[in-house]
Amino acid sequence: MTIAKNNSLKAKRLAEYIALQFDEKVTPLEKILTDEELDIFYDNYESNTFDGMTIFDNGKFYIHLNLDKRNYPNSDRGRFTLAHELGHYFIDTHRIGLKNGLLEPHPSLTNQKQFYAIEREADYFASCLLMPEPRFCQDVGNKKFSFEVIDFLRIEYKVSRTACALRFADIGNYPIMVVYAENNIIKWVHSSEDFPFKWLINDNIVPINTVMGDYFNNNHVFEVFKTEQVWAIDCFKSVRDEDLQRMFYEHCITYKNSALSIFWED
Ligand SMILES: [Zn+2]
Repeated sequence: MTIAKNNSLKAKRLAEYIALQFDEKVTPLEKILTDEELDIFYDNYESNTFDGMTIFDNGKFYIHLNLDKRNYPNSDRGRFTLAHELGHYFIDTHRIGLKNGLLEPHPSLTNQKQFYAIEREADYFASCLLMPEPRFCQDVGNKKFSFEVIDFLRIEYKVSRTACALRFADIGNYPIMVVYAENNIIKWVHSSEDFPFKWLINDNIVPINTVMGDYFNNNHVFEVFKTEQVWAIDCFKSVRDEDLQRMFYEHCITYKNSALSIFWED
């Protein structure tokens, strides 16, 4: 097992252990703060800065959340950011880094790669803390996949659609691909291990014959929130001849210059 995988398994075990100590399905982050005697500050730190920051000062940890980036108390976004910051507090290597001043909010270019690895680990911790696998899988049950399943789960766990879809891609009962784009450029793609196609057709331009592509290429006057059928050949790279007739569903949600799509096969 690689070190990265081993670390994320540790982060998952720790986060789920903490979450499952509580009966509440919506992980009571405030109780965790109280138990750990952590102080939290919601303040306006401007929109071009951080979402959250954990600081070690004078023998104590302090968590700061940025209201200017919409991290409101008890909002989906604020809760995810807080869970992420708790990751920095609970994961041994992060905590040690904070104590020694090695984890800075603005990384220099030289430690950028390590910084992203740490951030991804804290995001994964947050995802597991807010949606522990045993509980989440029980709620998924054997429901037939549709976009409504994501919408049901994200309300149950009080998380954003994006956070919920990413968790579902990892541990749900049906292979999906989650795509996020801004201004017709793909920002990231995350799919289930058993999703039948690995890559989108163009490396980072949104495929034109998709709901997303249509939104970006037609001046997006109206916001989109709908499921439509799309052809595999229009979406994915390396579609074989025998797969030319394969169709997928795409549920697309847009907001101004950004769009999130979930792809799945019927
Ligand atoms: Zn972080």
